[in-house]
Amino acid sequence: MDDSQFENIEQKVESMISPILITRYARAKGDYIASRVKKICKGLDLPTYEIAFYLLSTKEEAKRGRPVIRDIYIAQEQEVWPDYCAISGEGDIMSIRDIRDNLDKRIVGWGHSHGDIPVCFSSRDRRTFDNFLVDYGMFIDAEFDKSTKEKSISFIEHKGKKCIRVGDDKSFLIHSNLFNLFSLPDVERFGFSVIEHSEVNVQYTYAMVFNAVNQTPYTMVIYGIGDETRIIENMPFEEVDDGTKIRFDGKSIDAAIRERVVQIRERSDSIRSKMDKDYEDLRRLIDESIEIIDSNFVVGDGKSHYSPLKTVRDRLKSAEEIKDNFLDGQFLQEEAEEIYRRIDEDIKDLAGHLLGKRAYLDMILKSINKKEATAPSISLPLLGIRSRNWKARKEACEYLIQFVDSYHPDIHGKKDGT
Ligand SMILES: [Zn+2]
Repeated sequence: MDDSQFENIEQKVESMISPILITRYARAKGDYIASRVKKICKGLDLPTYEIAFYLLSTKEEAKRGRPVIRDIYIAQEQEVWPDYCAISGEGDIMSIRDIRDNLDKRIVGWGHSHGDIPVCFSSRDRRTFDNFLVDYGMFIDAEFDKSTKEKSISFIEHKGKKCIRVGDDKSFLIHSNLFNLFSLPDVERFGFSVIEHSEVNVQYTYAMVFNAVNQTPYTMVIYGIGDETRIIENMPFEEVDDGTKIRFDGKSIDAAIRERVVQIRERSDSIRSKMDKDYEDLRRLIDESIEIIDSNFVVGDGKSHYSPLKTVRDRLKSAEEIKDNFLDGQFLQEEAEEIYRRIDEDIKDLAGHLLGKRAYLDMILKSINKKEATAPSISLPLLGIRSRNWKARKEACEYLIQFVDSYHPDIHGKKDGT
């Protein structure tokens, strides 16, 4: 096919597939996923990664060759970096199955996010796109009847049938009813039959690049006619309102990102297992604290000078720290909140445990405040209260009272009333 012939086809194809049609919902979803990835990465202390997705339409539209992009699908088992993303072979298969079986949709294009980087197409993107055309390209049937007018005619065999080919060996097979456009010899006289082939297969697919800073998506279309492929950058796109409400379930989108993007999943898993371990440590500390308090609420033998108050205090302090750290990673907000709730319950348990001893603590504090001679005679090695140091004893006692009261303000109120 020579250049002028190709140009003619090009124009026709481009007029058939432009503009790209995308629903307002799908476009907003692309932006939304890009921004969620950025947020998740931040929570994981990672740079903003790219993410790969598929552009989906209904099966019927794809079959007709003029689809509207109606949804965006986060590709499974994909690997991502700040400037690159790739869907693994396994991820490809998993995604296709899911899209076909559960969504009843068809892949019509490829999309990805550039994170914080401006939208564009890199040379690497172009190579990816080439492969994408082979795997997912849609076919449109285009008829051409003008540019071939002055081309040479040759007689060839095609799939066992004799047929006429127009142009050089790259050209396409042409329908018999176009022959009257040319001044041809009578083909029947040569004993050839012409195969029915009135159309040229054109395969094409779309690509869109989003980013996390809400830049207008960058578009690309690739199409192939025979062995020749053409890429059009910046093809206009038109937003279609199909009535789908633009509301996204952040939870399920985040879950999909964490599950399907290998690097994010691995990072989340390692942090989550650290959180679980932190929680186990905390649980143990609280149990030990309860035990210390328990064993010190019995009449001591007066031998020990051990002051466990500091230990309990330190433990509760480290519990607070762990609790705070849990909340650092935005990405795991939900898990963090769950663990926070469990810590809170454990601390309340401890406070509840001490509540039974609240009146006793009051009594001790009273004695300490009066520096009563009887105070030491209580002789309970309660969390440092047995210390000879009045100040230390007072502090210890007040700390525990305050701790109990902060969890049981109603008891505190009653006490004030008497
Ligand atoms: Zn890219």
